[in-house]
Amino acid sequence: RRVTSPDLTTDPLHVLRRVFGYDSFRGPQQDIVEHVVAGGDALVLMPTGGGKSLCYQIPALVRPGTGIVVSPLIALMQDQVDALNELGVRAGFLNSTQLPQERQRTEEAFRSGELDMLYLAPERLRLESTLRLLDQGEVALFAIDEAHCVAQWGHDFRPDYLELSVLHERFPAVPRIALTATATPATRREIADRLELTGARHFVSDFDRPNIQYRIVGKADPRKQLLRLVRDEHAGDAGIVYRLTRADVERTAEFLVANGVDAVPYHAGLDAATRAAHQARFLREDGLVVVATIAFGMGIDKPDVRFVAHLDLPKSVEGYYQETGRAGRDGLPATAWMAYGLQDVVQQRKLIDSGDGDAAHRRTQTAHLDAMLALCETVECRRVRLLAHFGQESRPCGNCDTCLAPPESWDGTVAAQKLLSAVVRLDRERNQKFGAGQIIDILRGRRTPKVEQFRHDQLSVFGVGGDMSEAEWRGVVRQLLAQGLLEVEGDYGTLVLTESSSAVLRREEPRTVRLRTEGKQAPAAKTRK
Ligand code: ADP
Ligand code: ZN
Repeated sequence: RRVTSPDLTTDPLHVLRRVFGYDSFRGPQQDIVEHVVAGGDALVLMPTGGGKSLCYQIPALVRPGTGIVVSPLIALMQDQVDALNELGVRAGFLNSTQLPQERQRTEEAFRSGELDMLYLAPERLRLESTLRLLDQGEVALFAIDEAHCVAQWGHDFRPDYLELSVLHERFPAVPRIALTATATPATRREIADRLELTGARHFVSDFDRPNIQYRIVGKADPRKQLLRLVRDEHAGDAGIVYRLTRADVERTAEFLVANGVDAVPYHAGLDAATRAAHQARFLREDGLVVVATIAFGMGIDKPDVRFVAHLDLPKSVEGYYQETGRAGRDGLPATAWMAYGLQDVVQQRKLIDSGDGDAAHRRTQTAHLDAMLALCETVECRRVRLLAHFGQESRPCGNCDTCLAPPESWDGTVAAQKLLSAVVRLDRERNQKFGAGQIIDILRGRRTPKVEQFRHDQLSVFGVGGDMSEAEWRGVVRQLLAQGLLEVEGDYGTLVLTESSSAVLRREEPRTVRLRTEGKQAPAAKTRK
């Protein structure tokens, strides 16, 4: 029987051009495609946006039978399938959001060889009925997307992913390709082990984007800081400014326009026509700045974006990498600039606490936030840190703020002790929790109405930190958060101790806390000669 669409040839390059409309393969795509077409197993580590989908979509079209794609991103399945159908590819999906009739129709199409690709939620493969269904058709390959889910503790889909090893036992002749955008070498080994992919060839992409200069600065007046960046270094350049909320997108775009910068807003609250118009202008024009929520950028391939600016903290290092990665696709110098402050941490924390999802989900999100904070507060090369997050080792780059102006650090043990003591005393003596603002006022000995109202001037820690400015104390709080010595919780961003805090507070042999000196920023680097 004939499964692949009759008008397709078996040449991968031909399929790439005819079906997907691209001229050539990107990076390691061709090697991966050829390996899988020939029946080999593969483990693919490639950055988000690198082009993982084609690595299994093309072999699925070239090999006889249906390519089975296991993906936990149920919300995206419909879109992915629609996009493929639009290209003339016969794709379907099976997940729990479907009506029984739809499911039966898709199953029947698979049995009779009328599907090129079938997307499955991982939990479906735990059902014997799904495995029986697969027996009744012809399977071209198994693609396992987001394969790191099998390895990482706390991943929502882990139990389902662990079951995927049965695929190999039940369908030993079918090639499997596991894909992920994030995996340390240890995780990679675990993926290979758990999925019984021990013989698979590993295709590991280089995550480095050497032409991007990474800079992360303290947030003071973010819109003015942004304006300075644009005026001093990127006048007339195309750029993307990311903001968390729609309201901030609007306000920031208006601010830029009022200051003579050609800028437009982009977020999901705008009507489709406006969004399309702004996107089209961005692609067509040389020097437009788009201020956007992360809804902007998916599938946008503009080579000459000269800067990406974040005025709010991204939720994860993966997100940061993906968003900054839209800068400098042409290989010419580009800037990834971010302003971040304590309030960002409080805001993200609040989003995590108030979001839906279970405890495991919140733990994962917290781990993401912690990794992002560690990147913000590092005194090491930003790039070394960033690449290490994806399991890639590198040397200090010379093209990031910490390399260009190495931050000075100081022994902040005593300052940390003062701050943590204030948190302890409020808790023990008053049974109270407060946010950073109040705690800093107490340390600095400020008799504000709120300090007087709560009689915090009578605490023994009142005024012990008068030698440091408000901004310096905020820096201490941020860094203690990043080092896991302090946590922020609840709607009001109250500060609480962690298990590690006691090591710092100990009377004898306290843990030394090194902090970077605030206020030192990389000089506005010349990104163009
Ligand atoms: P990933 O899954 O790795 O995040 P995608 O598969 O979604 O990445 O691809 C990212 C973008 O790059 C998509 O818009 C895709 O169409 C585009 N793309 C992928 N491969 C190529 C190629 N060889 N030529 C041009 N564009 C490509
Ligand atoms: Zn560096």
